Amino acid sequence: MKSKLLLGSGAVLVAALIFLAAAPEKKPDPAEAARLNNLGCAYMNQQLFEKGLKNFQDAAVLDPARVIEVARGVEGVRDVHRVRSRGVHHAVELDLHLQVGSEMSVRSAHALAREIEAQLRVKFPELSDVVIHIEPCPVVVGAAAPV
Ligand SMILES: [Zn+2]
Repeated sequence: MKSKLLLGSGAVLVAALIFLAAAPEKKPDPAEAARLNNLGCAYMNQQLFEKGLKNFQDAAVLDPARVIEVARGVEGVRDVHRVRSRGVHHAVELDLHLQVGSEMSVRSAHALAREIEAQLRVKFPELSDVVIHIEPCPVVVGAAAPV
């Protein structure tokens, strides 16, 4: 994003230099300078609009598969689903559902969630907020008891 804004600023500067090089004896025309400036600003506004539109659409900022991979790597996690992220690239809000064994205590489940959050924050330093919803792993009728 910054590079595109720099490109827009650079385009204005290059256009101004070309204009001055083509007619060095001519005094810069304020109207022409204003047109060049408007052109650069229009480009930058378009880039900002596209970026804002992406955020407005609540597009996933983090790849859910990468988040799940980190979370599933923590011992005690049965499953992770409904991973959602939103925000801007330097301030991402993340929430997910964490399934744990139904026999796990609230204290242990909370500690597990904190460990997952800590590991996610290391892996994704752009995280500004993490919400983990803890739920018991569904019991399958007829399945063997968990070991
Ligand atoms: Zn769920």
